[in-house]
Amino acid sequence: MIRPTVARVDLSAIRHNLGAIAAFLGQGSQPRPGIIAVVKANAYGHGAPEVGRALAEAGAAMLACADIEEGIVLREAGVRAPILVFGALSVSDLDGVFTHDLTPTISTPSAARTLEAAAARHGATLRCHLKIDTGMNRLGFRFDNLQRTMPEVAASPHLQIEAVYTHFATADDVEHPIFGEQRQRFDAAVATLAHLGVRPRLRHAANSAALLRDERVWYDSVRPGLLVYGIVPPPLAVTIPLRPALSLHSRVVAVKGLRPGEGTGYGLKTIVDRPSTIAVVPAGYADGLDLRLAGRGVMLVRGRRMPIVGSVCMDMTMIDVTGTEVAPGDAVVIIGEQDGESIGVREMAAAIGTIPYELLCRLGARIQRAYGGDSRQRAAGSTPR
Ligand SMILES: *Cc1c(COP(=O)(O)O)cnc(C)c1O
Repeated sequence: MIRPTVARVDLSAIRHNLGAIAAFLGQGSQPRPGIIAVVKANAYGHGAPEVGRALAEAGAAMLACADIEEGIVLREAGVRAPILVFGALSVSDLDGVFTHDLTPTISTPSAARTLEAAAARHGATLRCHLKIDTGMNRLGFRFDNLQRTMPEVAASPHLQIEAVYTHFATADDVEHPIFGEQRQRFDAAVATLAHLGVRPRLRHAANSAALLRDERVWYDSVRPGLLVYGIVPPPLAVTIPLRPALSLHSRVVAVKGLRPGEGTGYGLKTIVDRPSTIAVVPAGYADGLDLRLAGRGVMLVRGRRMPIVGSVCMDMTMIDVTGTEVAPGDAVVIIGEQDGESIGVREMAAAIGTIPYELLCRLGARIQRAYGGDSRQRAAGSTPR
């Protein structure tokens, strides 16, 4: 059984994007950094088990997720690559770190204590990444207070600090001066750490936007998320040949005529002033479509952009197909391409004043993800898309 509204995820695009990012990184003047592929939030809505496996097989040095539970999902999907957990673990059940071989982030003094105690209990030496806050003021040890905070961490016998990292607050804003300042603070923090006897093997800092912007923040590894899925963080532009991995499809379930003066949807917000034809698409806000798309977004049918009208309802959305031959059963593209026309996630996000990240993460659990481009599926003889 499959609903008419389905997200197609092209795993060959994911693998291709990883390769394209690696090729881009290979053009730098320094040794090519490793790639920590970010698959938090169910791989930005694409499905963490399948995407995680594809990325690990395609050679990602490490995967990264938000919390221990996400890490366990990846392990249970058969991912054997190292997995970094970004989140603060102060209120988490830590057992999964040990049972599923996850690499936690130490981002606060209390997390360091909790992890040290848990590692001692398990009789384990825990590989960790240490997070430095260089100006985002979210998680991490303050860059300017390491003399005070680090000695205890450095003296924790069961914690092995394998890497040190930071995160940029304004990587997508090329005008903002804090970006360069954060880089300098990070360099200084790494030097301070060395002075205090903490010499991690790896340094990393760059999300997608940062790695596109400045080779100096590549360090030993980079941490792209959005780019892996084939989307460039707005407002940046790139020459890297990326392919969007996700497309969202549905089908027209009903078509009806409206007389002048009538409206459609809750609130009858759109009143038509001419005889009009409305098509109903079986996808709504329960599937992650944003209410603000009504009057602002479009969907593709028969290769044409049809405006979303009326209201985005829980399970349905109306589009204006006046003057076309649109009929029940017609293929609808909500995100993706159809007959040379296309709607990207960036465009959809811009239409309603949000970011591509939010749209992807909010794709509903009800929407089935159909995977194509899996090398093993092909080998098994199923038809690739
Ligand atoms: C989400 C996240 C990333 C990836 O960000 P993109 O903008 O998707 O590349 C990198 N690092 C950290 C700490 C993150 O939380």
